[in-house]
Amino acid sequence: MLNIVLFGPPGAGKGTQSERLQEKYGLVHISTGDVFRALDPDSDLAKLAKSYADKGNLVPDEITIKILESEVSKFPNAKGVIYDGFPRTTAQAEALDAFLAAKGTSVTSMLSLVVPEDELKSRLIARAEVSGRKDDADPAIIQNRIETYNNSTAPVAGFYQEQDKLSEIDGVGSIEDITNRLFSAIDSL
Ligand code: AMP
Repeated sequence: MLNIVLFGPPGAGKGTQSERLQEKYGLVHISTGDVFRALDPDSDLAKLAKSYADKGNLVPDEITIKILESEVSKFPNAKGVIYDGFPRTTAQAEALDAFLAAKGTSVTSMLSLVVPEDELKSRLIARAEVSGRKDDADPAIIQNRIETYNNSTAPVAGFYQEQDKLSEIDGVGSIEDITNRLFSAIDSL
């Protein structure tokens, strides 16, 4: 099984690139952010997730891990999965390792999109126009998301580096160029 963690700060292009990887390699694309946004808005779980997401904070690990595991379990015959926006904490990375090990598989590689902070901010502000997402529209919330990434999420790259599974990919340039860099990284796995 090809299990790719597509990593990077908010606005790095994980969603856009995941769609292209999904198409080329026939993988299942799982974005925990998309899963949270697709929950029945009247459910307690959706309200709880939204109370964190709208402020740019992480949804607690216990909830997020359960959601991820139930999503993966929907695709028992997947030839591979792109994990987009998960894991975002070391505890989530440990949980994913244990979950995949129980299925007799493991994370193949983490591809980490590297984009400077100024560019992330302008991409998110531009995305707000089309995404309608509250957390894209407010500069203070964007700042909080980037700080949360730096404090809680960036260390996850070290977790995979220790396992020799980390590749950094330049996330600046045309969408096409970045896709081609990701394709080359996957093709050389
Ligand atoms: P995203 O669509 O990846 O930008 O995620 C939007 C929001 O959903 C985040 O700011 C978090 O509040 C929540 N979220 C998504 N994935 C996770 C995760 N792996 N851990 C915790 N919270 C998450």
